[in-house]
Amino acid sequence: LLYNLVQDLKGSIRVYCRVRPFLPGQSNGQSTVDYIGENGNIMIVNPLKQGKDARRVFSFNKVFGTNVTQEQIYADTQPLIRSVLDGFNACIFAYGQTGSGKTYTMSGPDLMAEETWGVNYRALRDLFHISRERSELIKYEVGVQMIEIYNEQVRDLLVIDGSNRRYPSIHTCHISVTSRLYTLDIRNNSQLNGLNVPDACLFPVNCTQDVLDLMRIGQKNRAVGATALNERSSRSHSVLTVHVRGRELVSNTILKGCLHLVDLAGSERVDKSEAVGERLKEAQHINKSLSALGDVISALAQKSSHIPYRNSKLTQVLQDSLGGHAKTLMFVHINPELNALGETISTLKFAERVA
Ligand code: ADP
Ligand code: MG
Repeated sequence: LLYNLVQDLKGSIRVYCRVRPFLPGQSNGQSTVDYIGENGNIMIVNPLKQGKDARRVFSFNKVFGTNVTQEQIYADTQPLIRSVLDGFNACIFAYGQTGSGKTYTMSGPDLMAEETWGVNYRALRDLFHISRERSELIKYEVGVQMIEIYNEQVRDLLVIDGSNRRYPSIHTCHISVTSRLYTLDIRNNSQLNGLNVPDACLFPVNCTQDVLDLMRIGQKNRAVGATALNERSSRSHSVLTVHVRGRELVSNTILKGCLHLVDLAGSERVDKSEAVGERLKEAQHINKSLSALGDVISALAQKSSHIPYRNSKLTQVLQDSLGGHAKTLMFVHINPELNALGETISTLKFAERVA
């Protein structure tokens, strides 16, 4: 309890590092992770170098090794869920190069196996659980949106047919997997919570299963493209936003909070000689928005008076949930393979800047 209190006072940005295990078939590869300390340190080694240049230590709030379970990864997230139900905003990010485990952390490898569930589903499961515990005091309504940001355009991943695209009922609406992805504006909207994407479909949800159904559709709609690294590597940021509205039954006070669960586009730098046309444009947009995110979080961490939210769509969408009373949790992912060393170092540098 005291630890949580101290964490609260200390500030609201936490950065956790997760090391992906070697995948089957790479098991005898050489790891660039030399050791992981108890105190949030990780030492990276370049086995091709000698002497003090070969090793480098980075520090975070925590570092999770390859044997850590999905449950352990999620363990510190519950306080964020409580604070969303208390009427505050929160963001959880997955950052890292393509193939480093972002989607594994956020969604998990297998929706059918609950013990492998990622942060998204665990967060929602807790959210419903805690809201039920409080049901004699507060009546909650929960709705979700799922958007992606691709080439600096905001698109709805939960497009439905028909004209009434707001507050439809999940049970009566026909939801279709479609390529007609609309480009949406970021506007101020008091119904939701400050700056937002009010035109993205907002589905009321009552249980984790409702969310699972929606996310399956959203994931199918996500823009994917072929890169040298990973055929289905994600070139877009996907943002699952959970809006919570609570009415305190005695006082009639309204609490509004939201939780953004963000699976970021791959952070790898694209070799300009390889990427041309669309691919190059995608890469430039991704670089721009990730560095804008880094700039915002590090400005917040340094308590700077100017926070540069306006430099990307990503930071604009999340503006009201970054800073102020909002809590931020970032999972940075690294791939321990030797051929990923360059990206591993730049990922850790990015993360250290925002930590
Ligand atoms: P990203 O979303 O960053 O591109 P993925 O989450 O798709 O990466 O992970 C790439 C591959 O590695 C997938 O096959 C995934 O199942 C596997 N993987 C990632 N993290 C882990 C982990 N912690 N344990 C086991 N397998 C993992
Ligand atoms: Mg992914």
